[in-house]
Formats: sequence, structure tokens, C-alpha cells
Amino acid sequence: MSSSDTPVFDIQPNAAPVPGSEREARIADPGFGKVFTDHMAVIRYSEDRGWHDARIQARAPVELDPAAAVLHYAQEIFEGMKAYRLTDGATALFRPDANAARFKRSAQRMAMPELPEELFLESIAKLVEIDKDWIPTMEGGSLYLRPFMFASETFLGVRPAREYLYMVIASSVGAYFKGGTPAITIWVSDDYSRAAPGGTGAAKCGGNYAASLVAQAEAIRQGCDQVVFLDAAEHRWVEELGGMNLFFVMDDGSMVTPPLKGTILPGITRDSILKLAQDEGIAVREEAYAIDQWRSDAESGRLRETFACGTAAVVTAVGTVKSTNGDFTIGGGGPGQMTQRMRQRLVAIQRGEAEDPHGWVKRLF
Ligand SMILES: *Cc1c(COP(=O)(O)O)cnc(C)c1O
Repeated sequence: MSSSDTPVFDIQPNAAPVPGSEREARIADPGFGKVFTDHMAVIRYSEDRGWHDARIQARAPVELDPAAAVLHYAQEIFEGMKAYRLTDGATALFRPDANAARFKRSAQRMAMPELPEELFLESIAKLVEIDKDWIPTMEGGSLYLRPFMFASETFLGVRPAREYLYMVIASSVGAYFKGGTPAITIWVSDDYSRAAPGGTGAAKCGGNYAASLVAQAEAIRQGCDQVVFLDAAEHRWVEELGGMNLFFVMDDGSMVTPPLKGTILPGITRDSILKLAQDEGIAVREEAYAIDQWRSDAESGRLRETFACGTAAVVTAVGTVKSTNGDFTIGGGGPGQMTQRMRQRLVAIQRGEAEDPHGWVKRLF
């Protein structure tokens, strides 16, 4: 689509927004994914009209025919990003262009139409602008943005749909971990795989999450916070958590992270940490790391730290790993130095407190 036929957003403000005092009460302690704003962004797609009918409108339920393709064959993708206040009071996004690019790649994999990056970015900016009062003022508070797209065509035949809805909703969220950042305990899934070679592991699609939920439930039953998945082919190589990438910190100060070969989600936080490490002269190898190696390196002390990373929690230490083969603890079991340093570096750039050499922070207004 050329930029000349890019649809213009029709702004239809909510006629009955949540009153200010009620909004303040809701965002005082919002938790995660429960408090939603007054508006949403919507763009329609059809094969004959392309992208059209771009709107910011009152947040409302979506009417779908029971034969809508997404309800049967799960053509659905999403993104996750945050709008937040900088220390100087401006509102900003972190690397939104990377989310826009990943959304296009996810669409490609799921045989969906690609949303032009400028439409993605505009939908986000317009929604944040109209709902900016929903950004919590507490430390670590933000507006979690959830762009998503699904097949809305009424048709039960198995083929890529010809109609789609793209939407963005926004949710006020507090700090991911209240009162500091603890180390998490994770469960190694023996029975389940998240993604297989040739599958959809690198696409941010709802189906991957559906596939991970029994394993996540098993992790909770085992007293763990999260599940860690091994590769589907050999059940040997450590891949990622249900929604976070992993880094291993060695005793020589170098780091290892599993390589992107199609079964791992290419996290924007992962990529940012790779670049920060490079800036600081820290060697990072994108290299397969085996579960048995992980255990023996933790036991020998060759492995100092392990951390998980993603937009929601930024950087989180992994303290203990549990499995049917027994448990092991990493370092002292709490957040190590590199984990804390990477977290602080990233958060300082995100908040506009440190120099932003890569131009990651996009100020909105
Ligand atoms: C979204 C996601 C991540 C983290 O990606 P970020 O861009 O850093 O938020 C990691 N793994 C999976 C499976 C994900 O869906």
C-alpha cells in the first residue's frame, strides 16, 4: 500500500468516559491487565478494500459471527509494549518501530495481511494521546498497550481469511513486582514443547500461548513461578520461558543466550540487552545451551547468574530451577550483579535518565 492511500484516523471520543475520580481510584493499584482505558484503536482489512476505516473510538465489545475464522483456526497475532512517563514528564514509547516490524513478521507467518508500520505507530500514538490520563503516576507505572489482529471473516473453509480486524487496547499497570525484584523459580517442562522447528515459535501469536498453558499450570502446581521450555526435537536445549527470553552469565563475565532459529520469540528486550552488552564490551554468545550443562555449570560455579527478560518485567533473576531430575540453585539464589546492572541500564534509558545512544526512546508529547 502506498502512503497516499493510508487511511486517516477518525477520532470518535468516548461520550461517557470514566469520571476522573473513579479513574484515579482504578489506577491507584491497577495490578496487570485488569484496568482498561476509555478508548481503543480499530482498523479494518478486507481483501478488496485493503486497510480502511481507521478509528479511535470508545472501548466496546466486538461483535463477531460465530463462524468468524479466528474462533476456529486461530489466525491471531499480538504485540505488547508500554507507554510511560519520562523523568522530565514527557510521555514515551520504547522501540515502537521494533514492535511494528515484529507485528509484520508475525502476520507473514500466520498468512495474514501486513499492517504498514506507519499505521501501527499512528494507532499507538493516537490511543496514548487520548488516554494519557490513564498512565499511573506511581513509580514503575505505565500504560500497557496491546495491539492485536485476528481473522474476522465469516467462513469455515480452511484457508487464510479475507477479512481482519486490527485493534489496540490499553491497560493501566503498576510495577510488575511490588517492592523490588525478587528472583523467580522456574520449572523445566519434560512433557510439553512450546514450539517446533518449522512451527510458529518466532511469531507472537495467541496459539503459542494456548500451547504453553498446561505447562505453565504444571509449573504453578510444582510451586514455581514460570515454566522453561526445551527444544522440541531433542528435549535438550534450553529455549525460553512462556513469555520471556533467557540469558546465562558466566564466571568470566561473558553471557550466553539461545540463538534465534525460528523456535524462540525474538524479544525486543533480548535484542536491547545484546546491544547494551556490546556497548559495554561484554561478550555474548548466541549459542545453544543444554539443560545438563546449565545444571552442571550452576553446580560448579561456572555459571554465576541467569536472568529472564521481556517488556512486562524488564529483567528478572532466575534463582532456582526445578525439574523431575531434581533442583538446582544459581549463584546465591537471588538477583546477581549483572542482572541488576542490565536492569538498571535498561530502565535508566527507558526513563530518560541515561543517555540513549541507539535512539530507542520515542517521545510522544
Ligand atoms: C513477547 C515475548 C517475549 C518477550 O519479548 P519482548 O519484546 O522483550 O517483550 C519472549 N517470549 C515470548 C514467547 C513472547 O511472547
